[in-house]
Amino acid sequence: AAMREERIEKTKTVCTYCGVGCSFDVWTKGRKILKVQPQPESPANGIATCVKGKFGWDYVNSPERLTKPLVRKGDIFVEVTWDEALTVVSEKMKTIKAEYGSDALGVVASSKATNEEAYLMQKFARQVLGTNNIDNCSRYCQSPATKGLFRTVGYGGDAGSFSDIESANLVITIGSNTAESHPVLASKIKRAHKLNGQRLIVVDLRKHEMAERADLFVHPKAGSDLVWLSAVTKYIIDQGWLDIKFINNRVNGFDDYVQSLEKYTLEYAEAETGISRDVLIQLAEEIHKAKGTVICWAMGVTQQKGGSDTSTAISNLLLATGNYGRHGTGAYPLRGHNNVQGASDFGCMPDNFPGYEKVANSDVRKRYEETWQVKIPAEPGLNNHEMVEAIHDGQLKALYLQGEDMGIVDSNINHVQSAFEKLDFFVVQDLFLTRTAEYADVVLPASPSLEKEGTFTNTERRLQRIYQVLEPLGNSKPDWQITSLLADRLGFNWSYSYPGDIMAEAAKLSELFHGVRYEKMEGYGSQQWPATEDTTDSSLLFTETFPFDDGKARFFPVDWTRPTGTNDEYDLHINNGRLLEHFHEGNMTYKSEGIKRKTPRAFIEVSPELAEERGIKTGSLIRLVSPHGAAKGHVLVTERVAGNELYLPMNDNGETAINQLTSTETDKDTDTPAYKDTAVRMEVLEVE
Ligand code: SF4
Repeated sequence: AAMREERIEKTKTVCTYCGVGCSFDVWTKGRKILKVQPQPESPANGIATCVKGKFGWDYVNSPERLTKPLVRKGDIFVEVTWDEALTVVSEKMKTIKAEYGSDALGVVASSKATNEEAYLMQKFARQVLGTNNIDNCSRYCQSPATKGLFRTVGYGGDAGSFSDIESANLVITIGSNTAESHPVLASKIKRAHKLNGQRLIVVDLRKHEMAERADLFVHPKAGSDLVWLSAVTKYIIDQGWLDIKFINNRVNGFDDYVQSLEKYTLEYAEAETGISRDVLIQLAEEIHKAKGTVICWAMGVTQQKGGSDTSTAISNLLLATGNYGRHGTGAYPLRGHNNVQGASDFGCMPDNFPGYEKVANSDVRKRYEETWQVKIPAEPGLNNHEMVEAIHDGQLKALYLQGEDMGIVDSNINHVQSAFEKLDFFVVQDLFLTRTAEYADVVLPASPSLEKEGTFTNTERRLQRIYQVLEPLGNSKPDWQITSLLADRLGFNWSYSYPGDIMAEAAKLSELFHGVRYEKMEGYGSQQWPATEDTTDSSLLFTETFPFDDGKARFFPVDWTRPTGTNDEYDLHINNGRLLEHFHEGNMTYKSEGIKRKTPRAFIEVSPELAEERGIKTGSLIRLVSPHGAAKGHVLVTERVAGNELYLPMNDNGETAINQLTSTETDKDTDTPAYKDTAVRMEVLEVE
């Protein structure tokens, strides 16, 4: 170890922040991180990174890192050995399982942990605990996109690669603040737009950087995307601009679909979305004229009561216009966390085994039961949202939560935090004593990406390896080791010595990953799923068939779910999202000094017209009140927002936490919280 302190070392890793999946070399001396250096062969990013990937690493050496397991004794936590902590956890899990049954336990996996760790978390739930109560944070973001794609094209991932977004004639982004949330991808779009004549249409509530650059910026009423998408598709069909050859050869269900569009006339869409008839026609014309259209979308679409249906409508539009299976076309839900794609891919979902094979399918279940030598319930388990409700109802007694500050990031956090108080037993595994961990009975100290090996899957379905840069701090351990130790204590001898063994097991069991091999991903190598036995991978999906029995995609008729919206008492709509400098609730980025200095706290964006009406200005202190809670913050007057729409970055877990305000309403098909459908009223506390 002393030698290691002295030497300068260079190790390849993958960014721990967003789903772009930038890879780079990290230069270190001892625990000191000297610099981050992307390489031309970095498959997702070349020589680019954003500020988070470059400067957001101080958190790994933060004095706030947990270095020893903690066990609650009354009101305080005491430091204990791993042996003691594992004994407490395993005994308590055994007792609860014996007394109330397996389904009284739940597991939440982290979308920041590796694929191998995700695989083990679902295996722990299903094999060791005997429950399908397992979920991950895609429930808070992209589950609706996955649903929308499964219904129509059969895979819940991006249809192609970043190179396809770059080579498209037309890129449409919907509900995505791409320049701040997926900065390196945004740079690619900016370059293609500037140099290659790519057309860019941005549909959003906020006039952010990409909206400023766009050829056309469209601002619909909040939560009305399905309406304009359907109207534009109907107009395209009515004009005969559809790709009839593609539809005849490759898609089922056209007639029913056309019928379902009947009500989505231009007049109806104009009234419900506020987008003028001319702009609706322009949208249709742009798609018609483009040889290849790509649609990227994010939380503005998915975090709504009809998030899955709107994602479906996007896919329907692409099918109707033949925009699948060719380079420069397709659907691209942009994944938030570095491994939110992987956490779902590797089975941390209540209804799916790894590779999206259904737990309800007896053949699939049998394969896992024979391998794992246990019975697995045929019924899907509870998702995150249902777990919170089940705790309130007294059905769920224990929760094992990995790397997720659920008490801050779930919607309506007062409701979530009061659920934590009701748990009989709560284990949190994390880097820090998060606000959620404060409710735990046992806190297990985990190691971040720089301190372990494994793979992450970016938004392009690209698996990339990370190599160990630093030793685990103090007595912290990589999540895969912690979960393995727990499984051993509970009578299952997992005996993995290396993450590669875990991936080999997953690849064997799951068709999607049959050809995934560590050797193929050495260094800057990567593989995009699905990968066949001979290790061939897939940069572009659907070139010949769609993964349904008959090889054809399906039009899936959907109808608009009207958002709850504002009312007389709660007259302002509040939107939320990322800031470039911060990630998510900020648990990591607020511990990076340079980033914190630059952007120390969240602020509430207010339009100039609303500021004038309420007599406030930049710096004023206001309080926002919703039916579910209240949040205080300082005002930033900006033309990025218009009229009665406010915007609050989600990166503050202090008193300006957006989820004090959000409701328990969810997407009707996936239970993803409708974070973007929040109404508030404003109280002015201090004008100055
Ligand atoms: Fe790349 Fe995203 Fe990391 Fe920025 S946050 S360096 S865009 S992976």
